Amino acid sequence: MSEIKSTNIHWHEGNLTRDERWEALRCKGGTVWFTGLSACGKSTIASALEQILIQSGVNCYRLDGDNIRFGLNKNLGFSAEDRAENIRRIGEIAKLFSDGGNITLTSFISPYAADRDAARAVHAEAGLPFYEIFVDTPLEECEKRDPKGLYKKARAGEIKGFTGIDDPYEAPEKAELVLDTTGKSVNESAQEVIDMLVRVGLIEQ
Ligand code: ADP
Repeated sequence: MSEIKSTNIHWHEGNLTRDERWEALRCKGGTVWFTGLSACGKSTIASALEQILIQSGVNCYRLDGDNIRFGLNKNLGFSAEDRAENIRRIGEIAKLFSDGGNITLTSFISPYAADRDAARAVHAEAGLPFYEIFVDTPLEECEKRDPKGLYKKARAGEIKGFTGIDDPYEAPEKAELVLDTTGKSVNESAQEVIDMLVRVGLIEQ
């Protein structure tokens, strides 16, 4: 699904470099890619982080798993092929937002390592930072939370191919940050990400 089908297309450079844009707008871009099981806390942490960053004047935009499936990815389901295309599009969109000078937060289960690696590669090719955050909340804890009742449905066989139940989750082996949210507040988890962003120089203290 990802081959270039168009012919006679040519890349059109703009009149500005990325550095000129970021300098003029006083911002820096980069993608913070949250991955983990359903209900591990990706969306909650990304939302808290977005609020903190925006309120401190940092350009930031959040791309959320379910929300994207209402629009851009409304034609995709949860087969391995559709999950791959879902993540491929998100990788491309995150790259554009980051190029535009946003700290781009993506919260998608993104269960397959190859798909996450492809998103990382797209950023590397474009010279943009990419940080993989593994929200490593144990399955038992996610299932206990079950804020949308999805695990219950999956256990009852009403949802097929549910990650962690009857579909695989390939844990990252080289994530820049691993968070276990068990017994932590949302703010504590968000703070761990902020500390990392400061450490890598994407934001100031
Ligand atoms: P995901 O986006 O990974 O599917 P959600 O963010 O939708 O997960 O749901 C996570 C649930 O876990 C929410 O109900 C949230 O309130 C709860 N939770 C408890 N502690 C934390 C924490 N430290 N960080 C994030 N979420 C937490």
